[in-house]
Amino acid sequence: MELKVIDSEKFECCQCGSCCANIRGIMPKESSNFLEQMAFGKLPIVQLVPVNKMTFTLWDWEARRFREWEKERGIDARIKPFRSILDLDSNRAIVVSYFMDSTACPFLEDKKCKIYDKKRAYICRLFPFQRSPFLHTGQELQKNNIFGKCDSLGDIAKNIPDNKNEMISYLSKTFPDGSFENAVQFDHISEFVNKKIIELIKEKKLRPAINYPYDMFLKRFENSEKIDFTDFLLEKEIIKDKEELIKQFDNNEDAKEKIKN
Ligand code: SF4
Ligand code: SF4
Repeated sequence: MELKVIDSEKFECCQCGSCCANIRGIMPKESSNFLEQMAFGKLPIVQLVPVNKMTFTLWDWEARRFREWEKERGIDARIKPFRSILDLDSNRAIVVSYFMDSTACPFLEDKKCKIYDKKRAYICRLFPFQRSPFLHTGQELQKNNIFGKCDSLGDIAKNIPDNKNEMISYLSKTFPDGSFENAVQFDHISEFVNKKIIELIKEKKLRPAINYPYDMFLKRFENSEKIDFTDFLLEKEIIKDKEELIKQFDNNEDAKEKIKN
């Protein structure tokens, strides 16, 4: 693997492709423990694949783009529903996110991404981050759970200040490639999804299956009509303009605001 000389103050991805070569199970241990306990029926959002099979999240609008690119490039990206909510009122399965069912990313060829010039998924653009300091998980933020495995990090993880404001300032300066901003925006979108689900339930626009036997959930999911999460939000008038929302996300507007503040 070819490595560039590392500037300790600025991250530079050497495009070794290793984060794209194994996309299964890339997450901190505490996250996989949480998923094992909670993701298979105890919450409104239910994961449709076991933890060891999961790869990374494609939000519904990202999955749509990836489907176009797989056609353009003649690739079978094996894009499948990843997490879903079963709405007992409308008897529909709301697909919150998708994933690519593959060990290596199907868009990776000879260590190069075949869609590098496109607006790829957040996960493609936030690595080496695996979470941002803004994510509220109930688990203490530690320097060693911010990053995934990346040989271009050098001393960056070691040099992160402990104070949260200093940490944010340091990470903003040290990642001019935008990965930090993308990580903050990704976490914002995760929180946005959770908040919108609560809003839907409070306004009685959604009656999710919770504590539902998992096998039965999977069967009902298979047999139900499907709708993407953002389409459901639009239909229920929780958002007014879907394209505008996606543009706001694409431009990292929420992340910019959070980092500035
Ligand atoms: S982010 Fe790190 S692991 Fe991924 S391609 Fe760049 S250098 Fe390699
Ligand atoms: S789409 Fe490209 S950047 Fe994203 S995981 Fe696949 S190869 Fe890597």
